[in-house]
Amino acid sequence: MLLVQKFGGSSVATPERIKGVARRVVETRRKGCRVVVVVSAMGDTTDDLIGLARQVAGAGPGREMDVLLSTGEQMAVALLAMAISSIGERVVSLTGCQAGIITDETYTKARILDVRAERISGELDAGNIVVVAGFQGVNRNGDITTLGRGGSDTTAVALAAALGADLCEIYTDVDGVYTADPRLTPNARKLTAISYDEMLQMARLGATVLHDRSVEYARHYGILLHVRSSFNRHPGTVVGKQGCGF
Ligand code: ADP
Ligand code: ASP
Ligand code: MG
Repeated sequence: MLLVQKFGGSSVATPERIKGVARRVVETRRKGCRVVVVVSAMGDTTDDLIGLARQVAGAGPGREMDVLLSTGEQMAVALLAMAISSIGERVVSLTGCQAGIITDETYTKARILDVRAERISGELDAGNIVVVAGFQGVNRNGDITTLGRGGSDTTAVALAAALGADLCEIYTDVDGVYTADPRLTPNARKLTAISYDEMLQMARLGATVLHDRSVEYARHYGILLHVRSSFNRHPGTVVGKQGCGF
């Protein structure tokens, strides 16, 4: 069984949370699964980096913004890999470029063109947990690109498709996909399952729980998603084909 597990920024916002994520990943590994982990930058790191850029340059050039913004995820993968290693599992961290995420040249909102997954496959074959930086790739000039705000979801789904993963789990700070943003609409209801089409509509209307491109990607490649909380064990929301498995 091959699993892709993606952890968003709030799930890795503090050292304690990073250690909690490490324990959860190791638990999955020790059940015998091959695991690829995709991580976002810690907490508000991306916003803070954008704030810094504004202070020095107003709107910085896109290429340089991407060099800057990619550092948030690079920091997170290194820390998570260290935490996993300290529990005694073999692990390697990879940047988007090292993971083979090839994009177009649209800085700050690049589109994934190809995933060259040989490096990840090799690391999995060698018995490693592979921790990949979300939200970033490399273009044909060898320059770092980023995928647009919320883009780590798309990294996770793209890797799941390229590796033929059995499931892509999206761990976040709510229990699943709700009928509306549960932070703004207290009586919103959690959905057990939702079709790609309905989820895509919600994401395009601004439901940040999933990056819209990640849903397009999942629909195109038929990747089953499970959106769930990183803070508890409740079953979350399955995103899949209408009438398929739910
Ligand atoms: P992560 O950092 O894990 O990627 P995001 O902040 O990108 O998390 O997405 C999770 C947030 O999405 C939730 O905290 C919630 O406020 C918001 N959200 C908006 N619409 C929905 C919805 N329909 N269902 C669940 N969460 C939603
Ligand atoms: N760190 C990036 C952002 O804040 C990517 C992500 O979280 O998915 O938008
Ligand atoms: Mg997100």
